[in-house]
Amino acid sequence: MNSLNVFNSLSRQKEPFVPLEAGSVKMYVCGVTVYDYCHLGHARTYVTWDTVRRYLEWKGYRVTYVQNFTDVDDKILKRAREQGSSMQAVSEQFIEAYRKDMERLNVKTADAYPRATTSLEAMYRLIRDLELKQFAYRVRGQEGGEDVYYAVGKFDGYGKLSGRKLADMQAGASGRVGAEGAEKRDPSDFALWKSAPHSEEGFESPWGWGRPGWHIECSAMVRQNLGDRIDIHAGGADLKFPHHENEIAQSEPVAGEPFAKYWMHNGFLNIDGEKMSKSLGNFTTIRDLLKTYDPMALRLFFLQTQYRSPIDLTDESLTAATNAWKTLSAALQFARSLALQGVEPEGEAIASFETAMDDDFSSPGGLAVAFDLAKTLNKEQNQRIHTGAGVLPEAVCQAKAKALLEIADVLGLAIADSPVETVTEVPNDLSEADIQALLERRNAARREKNFSAADEIRARLEAEGITILDRADGTSHWVRS
Ligand code: AMP
Ligand code: ZN
Repeated sequence: MNSLNVFNSLSRQKEPFVPLEAGSVKMYVCGVTVYDYCHLGHARTYVTWDTVRRYLEWKGYRVTYVQNFTDVDDKILKRAREQGSSMQAVSEQFIEAYRKDMERLNVKTADAYPRATTSLEAMYRLIRDLELKQFAYRVRGQEGGEDVYYAVGKFDGYGKLSGRKLADMQAGASGRVGAEGAEKRDPSDFALWKSAPHSEEGFESPWGWGRPGWHIECSAMVRQNLGDRIDIHAGGADLKFPHHENEIAQSEPVAGEPFAKYWMHNGFLNIDGEKMSKSLGNFTTIRDLLKTYDPMALRLFFLQTQYRSPIDLTDESLTAATNAWKTLSAALQFARSLALQGVEPEGEAIASFETAMDDDFSSPGGLAVAFDLAKTLNKEQNQRIHTGAGVLPEAVCQAKAKALLEIADVLGLAIADSPVETVTEVPNDLSEADIQALLERRNAARREKNFSAADEIRARLEAEGITILDRADGTSHWVRS
């Protein structure tokens, strides 16, 4: 159980994973701001943390996974104004959309989904505690209300996660969060509470009418849902600064102890070398992409890269992932058709998988084991259909099938309950029509019992990277190997 090594953004190195309490893991992942549909960058982030969670569970840990919805934010407010609705209506709409998207990507549901609107009391308490310890101060806000700021200079540890020096930050800071008339003592100080005019949506707080800052939300939700100390705090790399740095600054002075033991950050999904984002306008929503691609092909596409590395999205790489998924899903389908009750998974495969994943969740290494198994199983399936008998002893085949099913499950790669669709994608060299023509010639040869001719065509297609899969009903389809 203890062989797992995790890259900790805080120490900037891989560390043995030892949870605070043996056998259980408290994990918090920063959720989405619900003002629009999620794009593929969000998909990468949540597939990453879902896979980490699944792996930890497979290792035997009891994982408590909490992820928030930011349902109070200027962007949500803007959207509500545009739609002539409320922040609540906008949030409900996109929380529902988020849930649907994630379900399709086979992302497990969190144990709790706290929202800003359901955590106000926890935020008030934390801000009050920071005031008492003099880490926070008030300035005059709008319409008689007050703004509350965090005094960054008070916290010695400020900058320890991002590696930034306070002096550099002060030089570069803008007064962005300062409401009119409000004066921050230091340009790096950030808002815990922002006053708002009564004509705007807001909440009545100890500091009058207003809305909470974004960072305080997560600190308060962690405290309320998981306690003062957690094992893993995760999110995309852009959250390291200022969001996570500020969370540490808010939580640690109050608790008097380290907030998260492991800070983990995933790399971006990029397009032409730039982060996919709403503001750059270079985004594709999950639901749009899934009109063309299989959700499991997308999940596989993400897992082909280690979570900390950036991924560049191209049509070619998505097509390659689609083909890879076809290979894998054909093998999973075959595996599922076998009688596996009481069968132990192949020990060697499971051990290789675990070794790969123990190295900071190296999913490419984990997938390599899955593809080894899939190739062998697909071959075996062909043999059985084609010649009526396989080459593998049944017990070996079953153990491989069981291992593949187990590994796929840990990676969250699931086949649908219905049979895999006939493959129709166009390979690189042979056109789809060429392949179809060859398939028909092979079928004709088989009907004439000219098996050597049929095998010759199979071999030719194999050489082009095409595997033929014969179905029990006499029809055939093909996949790229
Ligand atoms: P947001 O709603 O924009 O705060 O993003 C929610 C989560 O998605 C955060 O953890 C972000 O880091 C992550 N995220 C946003 N864009 C990308 C991207 N292009 N690649 C990877 N993660 C992203
Ligand atoms: Zn957060």
